[in-house]
Amino acid sequence: MDYQKILDEIAIEIAALPNDGEVANYIPELAKANPDKFGMHLTTVRNEHFAVGDAEDKFSIQSISKVFSLAMAFSLMGEKLWKRVGVEPSGNPFNSIVQLEYENGIPRNPFVNAGALVVVDVLLSELQNPEEDLFAFVRSLTGSTDITYNAKVAQSEKETGYLNSAFVNMMKAKGNIVNDTEEILDFYYKQCSIEMNCRELASAFLHFGENGLAYSHAGFSLTKSQVKRLNALMLSCGFYDESGQFAFKVGLAGKSGVGGGIAAVFPEEFAVAVWSPKLNKKGNSVRAFNSLELLTTKTESSIF
Ligand code: GLN
Repeated sequence: MDYQKILDEIAIEIAALPNDGEVANYIPELAKANPDKFGMHLTTVRNEHFAVGDAEDKFSIQSISKVFSLAMAFSLMGEKLWKRVGVEPSGNPFNSIVQLEYENGIPRNPFVNAGALVVVDVLLSELQNPEEDLFAFVRSLTGSTDITYNAKVAQSEKETGYLNSAFVNMMKAKGNIVNDTEEILDFYYKQCSIEMNCRELASAFLHFGENGLAYSHAGFSLTKSQVKRLNALMLSCGFYDESGQFAFKVGLAGKSGVGGGIAAVFPEEFAVAVWSPKLNKKGNSVRAFNSLELLTTKTESSIF
């Protein structure tokens, strides 16, 4: 398979289409992203690397980080984790509060914001140095030692994160949050404002498509069966109320973030990350989504 040729074709085809969507602006610092950026990096299980466009530019990974924190919490808690957070698609936006009230403070899944906040609560309870451990884990998965977060983005999220405060308080009232709500929010905002490039994201996600996380990364490991569960959650919930569309059009397990990134996995063959800041109404990058649809169509490599 000539992946480089396919990536080059995708970049040309995408550039020929109108750059639709809006850069996320509900987090003011994210609104500063250059809307014309586009990068894509694909890495295979044979350690081949293919890239096009701005694949070395760092960007805010936002909700893609929820996969990393979930992998850590699942490694620590095993199946007990699912008592605190569900495994069903929500059919609602990532920042919807409605289900939390009548479902007793148990979020539908770990990728809506409320679910990711419960995951943070678990990490704060289980780990002595959760922040250090998160960065050690992500650095180990990518092999990049310089991965860190953008303090301005984290601060900007904190200043405008009224809904996230509402989720964590609602869950505290319902008995599904143990730690101090401000500590949880601070950790969550740091996690979301981690900056990575497409190469680093693809390298990290390759572990979810290769031999699992059988060997430990910074002390965290997952069995093949646990990695199956992680991928199943990405497939069914990774794009919120557009997860069905992503499965339908792309057919890979993946996760998006409002920074405009999407990382996805084709098990036993490749992981890919795409970045373009303009989002559709569901908070998913228009060009990243379309690029991945072109990729799986051209390579005939969907999991279905
Ligand atoms: N940090 C963002 C928020 O809490 C993450 C949302 C996303 O990427 N979908 O709203």
